[in-house]
Amino acid sequence: MKVFKFGGASVKDAAGVRNVAGVLKHFALDDLLIVVSAMGKTTNALEEVVWAYADGRDALAKVAELEQQHFAVLREVAPEDAGARTALEDQFHALRSQLKQPVSLDVDHYYDQFVAFGELWSTIIVSAYLNAAGIGNKWVDARTIITTDDRHRAANVKWEMLEYNCEKYLPSFDHLPHRIVTQGFIGRTEDGDTTTLGREGSDFSAAIFAYALDAESVTIWKDVPGMFNADPKRFPNTRLLEHISYKEAIELSYFGASVIHPRTLQPLQRKHIPLYVRSFIDLSAPGSTISEATDHDTLIPSFIVKPNQLLVSITPRDLSFIVEENLGGIFKLFARRNVRIDLMQNSAVAFTVAIEDTPRSRALIEELRNEYEVLYNEGCELLTVRHFDEPTLSQLTEGKRILIEQRSRATARYVTKAK
Ligand code: ASP
Ligand code: MG
Repeated sequence: MKVFKFGGASVKDAAGVRNVAGVLKHFALDDLLIVVSAMGKTTNALEEVVWAYADGRDALAKVAELEQQHFAVLREVAPEDAGARTALEDQFHALRSQLKQPVSLDVDHYYDQFVAFGELWSTIIVSAYLNAAGIGNKWVDARTIITTDDRHRAANVKWEMLEYNCEKYLPSFDHLPHRIVTQGFIGRTEDGDTTTLGREGSDFSAAIFAYALDAESVTIWKDVPGMFNADPKRFPNTRLLEHISYKEAIELSYFGASVIHPRTLQPLQRKHIPLYVRSFIDLSAPGSTISEATDHDTLIPSFIVKPNQLLVSITPRDLSFIVEENLGGIFKLFARRNVRIDLMQNSAVAFTVAIEDTPRSRALIEELRNEYEVLYNEGCELLTVRHFDEPTLSQLTEGKRILIEQRSRATARYVTKAK
């Protein structure tokens, strides 16, 4: 069986929902699990509902707007499906009654309860439409399969429960055509509370299902024809990454490319399940493949720019050497304040890091100043080039002041500032 994932942009309206059927018909697949995100910007809208509820403001108007949008799409794509209409009504009713409960203290907890509705609504509509269009399928509540801990908004999956859950709650694979429509992003604790896996978590859900069911492959359908060697919004002449390894994709996302989250790749890598990233607009476009490394890997220069960086150098006040003990203490402060180090370098008396310029980073600098002398340069850019060549490097750094340069075999990194 295969796993297909459709993101919010691919089901943002009735035309998008119909296009899902177009994709499925094109491939004529029977054995399929289809993971669907919330429609369009629904998750953002539901976040606003959460913040309104938390502040004691009225969120019902926003909910009514979402209800109107979802029912308009359902009426358009599956007007005859009374069951789907009732299911959708029930889910809106459930959200409204939750909004009437007194505000509890834990925002993250009710964030998950509210925001999960986006995925429930969209999958009811997509499932109803596919059935109406002759693509028989069963709607499954992903929360019955994905059991998590109670770390709300960033829940951890209980991998050991997956097999049992699949056996118990997934409709049997004996009856073909076997198609399941389910939600991305959401799970449930053993106590029955809804959880979410973090924003953009639907790709991860697709990987979890693929892992649990030993899928042949996962395909993520996007509004772009695959993964590129640089952000097309920032650079001209970007090129498609036709084939890259799991490791390369993890490296690229670590350096800041918004390709696929490493968390999505790990379960796939463990079971050697290939990931395809393809265009739902152009079905003939080959897209990108992420799998084991091969001789045909696309090793063209890929570049990633992270703007808004601080280059911070940390020196012991008595100019004592930077040794493991100070480094241990410094790392602990970064971890405690949850500030990610994007690049680091050390000399005898200074430890230098590039970090994103955020209020958290500024607060950390103040804290470090209790023990160290801290100097920083603001407005820097961090440039990472994988599989670099000299012409690319000089082109990318032209007209910039280079504050740090680091090279390893496959990666060149620069901290630069405008001249
Ligand atoms: N709907 C969720 C979000 O917008 C999850 C996802 O789309 O991956 O973050
Ligand atoms: Mg999305």
